Amino acid sequence: MSSTPQHSQHISISDLRSDLKGEVIGPEDAAYNEARQVFFKGVDRRPAAVARVAGAVDVARVVTLARESGLELAVRSGGHSRAGYGTSDGGIVIDLSGMRGLDIAADAKTAWVETGITAGEYTSAVGERGRATGLGDTGSVGIGGITLAGGIGFLVRKYGLTIDDLLAAEVVTANGEIVQASEESEPDLFWAVRGGGGNFGVATRLQLRLHEISEIVGGLLILPATPEVITGFIEAAEAAPEELSTIANVMLAPPMPFIPEEAYGKPVLLALLADIGAVDQAERVLAPFRALGRPYADMVRPMRYPEIYEGEGPPVPFMAGTNFFADALAPADAGTILEQLHQSTAMMKAVQLRVLGGALARVPSDTTAFGHRDRRLFVNIAAMYTDPAEAATHDAWVAGVADSLGKDDAGGYVGFLGEEHGETVRAAYPGRTWDRLRNLKRRYDPDNLFRLNHNIPPADPSDGA
Ligand SMILES: Cc1cc2nc3c(=O)[nH]c(=O)nc-3n(C[C@H](O)[C@H](O)[C@H](O)COP(=O)(O)OP(=O)(O)OC[C@H]3O[C@@H](n4cnc5c(N)ncnc54)[C@H](O)[C@@H]3O)c2cc1C
Repeated sequence: MSSTPQHSQHISISDLRSDLKGEVIGPEDAAYNEARQVFFKGVDRRPAAVARVAGAVDVARVVTLARESGLELAVRSGGHSRAGYGTSDGGIVIDLSGMRGLDIAADAKTAWVETGITAGEYTSAVGERGRATGLGDTGSVGIGGITLAGGIGFLVRKYGLTIDDLLAAEVVTANGEIVQASEESEPDLFWAVRGGGGNFGVATRLQLRLHEISEIVGGLLILPATPEVITGFIEAAEAAPEELSTIANVMLAPPMPFIPEEAYGKPVLLALLADIGAVDQAERVLAPFRALGRPYADMVRPMRYPEIYEGEGPPVPFMAGTNFFADALAPADAGTILEQLHQSTAMMKAVQLRVLGGALARVPSDTTAFGHRDRRLFVNIAAMYTDPAEAATHDAWVAGVADSLGKDDAGGYVGFLGEEHGETVRAAYPGRTWDRLRNLKRRYDPDNLFRLNHNIPPADPSDGA
């Protein structure tokens, strides 16, 4: 996983305990088995210690310990990294889950939030004040990981990525310093953390913009999937007002209580829609989607915005995946998706399509380290499975689907990458973004302490990069 050799240093759990305000869990502790786990339950790693830090000062101490001891350092917010970067074999884990503080400004236009909170908890809490910040589609994802990756969610067309609402971040850098990064203070670091993942330090607090959003019209619409329905859905999503963002999963219908039995195993387009425009206009906005076919289920209804995060699937042991950006989906591609779904033996597989554009596309591509602003469509291919011996089969399937859909070399979104290195990570940061990131990595983390991530190696001074 890391290119730097692992030192097998012994750490004293009791010394660490006396150094930190937060809790330290070692292999001898009853809580260890739970504490070493992440979202993907197949990831089975045994860290030397899990430090449930209580604040930035604790984080700085653990960062310093990792730097001085040479122990591998994992940083975990919500633990949803597909590669399992939130845990480590033999290393030390900074587990931010004890840091869930939220401080909404008096005018309710911004909030400071600690990075151990989940997307769902944050959305519920700010939702109490009729406010929201765009995150992803899943409540249990950590605000730390999703924000640093970029954040593509239900508000993407109206308000852009999560990083477009990030106003400042408190970051513990590799030398153990606690710094504020914003347009005014450490602007280069602020640029890098907006898309550069955990490469530049541990974000302990984020200041996010809040939008006035309370009642929306949203929920699940499940349609029988044909090539015409899939392409029609994309056209309708592109033509819709920016208040509407959609996430369409083309998949074989799972046996879920709200899906009629006769549809089980048949191709469906399972879409999540969120329309934050005027509720009394929603019927008109949603009509083109409903007209695409006779829905198997139509659960789109007025709701409070946080309700869109309710209802999460069962735990996932392993997931093969790949993703890319595209500009369009031809009817033949939609047909290919449907054919390919039948070829996979994974317990669940889906090709997810998200129409972008809108506010995301209006931000110049060099404003942040997320460099894919000009692409219209995001395609994420995933296959879930339980037996690790099948990894190669499912990896090959997702790669095959991506190839047949014309995935180019223009790179994907790091948020959905797995244990990828080298060219795949490099391609995720197109154009000059990569060189700028490497130079900043050299400035902020020259020894690559933060390497358990989609790693950006520090620029080599001899490259002149
Ligand atoms: C079920 C599921 C649904 C998803 N849906 C979406 C979606 O709709 N939109 C989207 O954009 N993404 C989505 N993602 C991707 C998700 O945003 C990334 O996997 C994200 O990195 C997870 O964040 P986390 O904090 O939960 O994970 P973690 O495993 O804790 O962290 C992921 C990475 O970020 C680093 N990191 C986390 N917190 C910090 C921090 N505070 N400081 C420094 N580094 C940190 C970690 O070291 C690690 O490398 C989804 C993922 C899953 C599994």
